[in-house]
Amino acid sequence: MKVLVFGGAGYIGSHVCKYLAKHGHEITVFDNLSTGHAEAVCWGNLVQQDILNPEAIVDCFRQHGPFDLVMHFCAKSLVGESVTSPEIYYRNNVVGTLNILDAMLATAHQRIIFSSTAAVYGNPQQSLIDERHPRLPINPYGQSKKMVEVMLLDYANAHGLDSVSLRYFNACGADPEADIGESHQPETHLIPNVLKSLVNPTNNVLKIFGDQYPTADGTCIRDYIHVNDLAQAHLLAGEFLFNHSGAFAFNLGNGSGFSVMDVVKAASQVTGREIDYQIEAPRAGDPPILVANAHQAQQQLGWKAQYTSLEAIIETAWRWHQNENF
Ligand code: UDP
Repeated sequence: MKVLVFGGAGYIGSHVCKYLAKHGHEITVFDNLSTGHAEAVCWGNLVQQDILNPEAIVDCFRQHGPFDLVMHFCAKSLVGESVTSPEIYYRNNVVGTLNILDAMLATAHQRIIFSSTAAVYGNPQQSLIDERHPRLPINPYGQSKKMVEVMLLDYANAHGLDSVSLRYFNACGADPEADIGESHQPETHLIPNVLKSLVNPTNNVLKIFGDQYPTADGTCIRDYIHVNDLAQAHLLAGEFLFNHSGAFAFNLGNGSGFSVMDVVKAASQVTGREIDYQIEAPRAGDPPILVANAHQAQQQLGWKAQYTSLEAIIETAWRWHQNENF
């Protein structure tokens, strides 16, 4: 397949590109490098442009296409920032995606895989969340992703545009070869912050946000899913669109929950090091428990996560963080 990957220089996008290339697919990356890394574009050519520039998108489709499939990872994704600067989120995530969809229509491209998130669900009404759980986001980031899902359904009905929205739970880990990995500035995610506190303890004291949640050890429970398992799901979702028409959505998670303290303990075991931390106030908008029911992705896409233990996931992340080179 020829695949156009918007946001292919970012954390999840670059892992998907590597996975696609390994499976014999041809890739073009479209990325403005605002949060992505040129060093992570190793599996196809880079078109350094912005999704807020509609002509640049159309030009890319015309010059480098036609493509069999589009994947879209470009997004602002910091929940806190989305609360204080919602305009950034609605412009980049909603208007930017609208530009991509319109460029697809203008150039007769029909299939797109969209990076969605468990944040579309808002506060969970049950601890195992399936795709029918109400979508009631509690911050502009989640709202912006939900708006795109709504647009995709409308574009399917009006224009026959076929899509899969993949709702990630907690993406984590790195490719085992450690040539790419998670590198955000600022870093807000738990596993990289735990490991950074070991690599560079003076500048990175680990903070645990809340220890009085209604969970066994008082810290939040999440569903951690390895980035290469996400990559596999993207290829399967792309193949699925060659036999299915419409707008689809699937959860991507392991279906098991681990607390923040479980992560700290597993990281200590993997690295053989003691991990210092301090307890801080809870972060605004963090639900106590968020775990996926991902049966639909397993049944309909044939997806099966390979990394099911925290230790296996953290081991790959640790390899990356010890030699992080961008
Ligand atoms: N967390 C933490 N310290 C950190 C980063 C995260 O205690 O430095 C907690 C956070 O409050 C949440 C869990 O770890 O309960 C997972 O947070 P992360 O930002 O990795 O993902 P989220 O679930 O917010 O998407």
